Amino acid sequence: MLIRAQKSAKEPLEKKAKVFQKAFDISEDAIVMLSDTNEMIYANRSLMKLLDLNEDDVGKPLRIKPEIKVKRDWVTLEQLVKENNKGTEEKMQSFLQSELRRDDKDRDVIPINLYIDTFPVGDKPQRWCTIVSIHDLSKEKEKTALNYRHKLTKLPNQAQALHDLTALYSKMHLNDKKLALVLLDIDNFSKLRSIIGYEQANIILIKVADYLDTLAKEHGFSVYHTYHNNFLLVVPDINASKEILSLVQIIQKRLASFYRMEDTRLHLTASVGISIYPDSGSTLNLFDNAYKALNQAENHGFGRVHIYIPSDIQHDYNELILHNEMHEALKKDEFEIYYQPIVEAKTKEVVAAEALIRWNHPKYGIIPPAVFIPLMEKTGFIIELGRYMLEEILRQQKRWELFQFKQIEVSINITLLEIESEGFVENVAKQLQLHQIRPELIKYEITEGSAMISEELTRKQFLALKKLGIPIALDDFGTGYTSFSYLKKFPADVLKIDKTLVDYILTNNEDQRIVKAMIELGHNLGVKIVVEGIENKRMYELIASYGCDYMQGYYFSKPLPVFEFQKLLR
Ligand code: C2E
Ligand code: MG
Ligand code: MG
Repeated sequence: MLIRAQKSAKEPLEKKAKVFQKAFDISEDAIVMLSDTNEMIYANRSLMKLLDLNEDDVGKPLRIKPEIKVKRDWVTLEQLVKENNKGTEEKMQSFLQSELRRDDKDRDVIPINLYIDTFPVGDKPQRWCTIVSIHDLSKEKEKTALNYRHKLTKLPNQAQALHDLTALYSKMHLNDKKLALVLLDIDNFSKLRSIIGYEQANIILIKVADYLDTLAKEHGFSVYHTYHNNFLLVVPDINASKEILSLVQIIQKRLASFYRMEDTRLHLTASVGISIYPDSGSTLNLFDNAYKALNQAENHGFGRVHIYIPSDIQHDYNELILHNEMHEALKKDEFEIYYQPIVEAKTKEVVAAEALIRWNHPKYGIIPPAVFIPLMEKTGFIIELGRYMLEEILRQQKRWELFQFKQIEVSINITLLEIESEGFVENVAKQLQLHQIRPELIKYEITEGSAMISEELTRKQFLALKKLGIPIALDDFGTGYTSFSYLKKFPADVLKIDKTLVDYILTNNEDQRIVKAMIELGHNLGVKIVVEGIENKRMYELIASYGCDYMQGYYFSKPLPVFEFQKLLR
């Protein structure tokens, strides 16, 4: 129902309003029609409710109070309407995924889509009218929030876990502490369920969930209900795996006696799989590795615990041993460079490659860089590795030149620590000269890694490197450490948007907006954009539509040993 203006001499507007009346009435959206002097001619019920107005307000100017979030600022609705209604041309503006508050003290922010539409009415004298329509997104938001909770226990679910973990991983290199993923599977649950019935079984799950939730709050970890009888604990900031094992022991003990049915005590047990970063390998596989560990635990009976170890050989795979072996490994050629293609987004043609180091350990098998690079940074060995990478790649470039492969730019990863090291730039210049390779055929990808020692020095070296004609990319861009302010100090040629920003891009609107804006902003600043972690066609198409220049990811190719990779250059 429309609320009629108390007194009105606005003939053409009123007539027009009547035409819209039907549509206004049935709409769940909050709709108001305003004259060119900003008077509310009509408003529907939803609007009155949303803005806390009453019938007396109709016929008066729209109150100044309601505010809309435009980018970062709050702007009054009145201001927005005024801007739209300049009375000279038809204009329609939409503010999607915006927010509304009833006044500047209102803490209750309502997610909305807002549309403001101004158009002329009547001929002589011609007047202007504005329709404001507000679509409340709260219910839709609630629904998506529910997608991140387990239906039975209301604990956050696996989707939420994956989301949280990505954020957590990006911070892991900042401290020396370890992170553990603990998967807990209540043993023999389907059998139990067939004995005690569906409802009792659900009650058990709810109780286990409550218990874990309380424990999580006490001990400062997070708990997720991943699927029916399976829970995930994410335990940050641990010093040694012992701490995790004692936590698991507490849980096992409690489970053994905590549920009583009539007169019987149910003796519950749980199989537990654990993966620990960095001991169990890179964050890329941490979740999968916890499942592998769980599988191992389950293979050995009920109530068992298993910690995942790369290649799952039981040995003293520890930092000290790796550290001692590094120097020898370099001499014994245990390091191998893999190449991952970088393609042009428009054509999917391979135009560059990123060199990624692997350690073929005689005992442990292939150790991923996420395990040993942080260690090398701590010990300074990274500088030696960097020199090795450069020389190997220059040699490789020479071979490709001699055998007439397509010559492409190869990116080398370095940390700030290396850039700051003495004689770094001089060595690069010397090696280029020695191998007779053009500087454009290599590129340095800089990750912030360990903290900067001296920003001035780093900047100086950075500019000197650029002066040699070597392009520079800022890696892991957008993870919180490298941002646009950083780009001012370190004017790079390329930004590599981090994989964590695109992992959920197909379903996460916010990530979509961030990546799109980054590409636009980057282009405005004159840098090229590489997006990494493209894993499928839909990701490729979406991100290509944002105008990204280059892409890298498993969708095109995984990192490959040189002989595999160079087939792509023929
Ligand atoms: P980065 O430079 O960001 O390299 C990209 C990483 O993402 C690589 O992991 C690559 O294998 C992986 N990747 C690429 N596309 C996809 C995809 O579509 N899906 C998934 N799941 N992963 C993808 P990798 O090789 O384990 O390297 C990890 C990090 O180790 C690198 O991150 C880089 O920071 C560092 N690193 C590797 N080699 C070197 C090196 O020679 N020197 C230095 N200083 N750091 C290195
Ligand atoms: Mg890189
Ligand atoms: Mg990266």
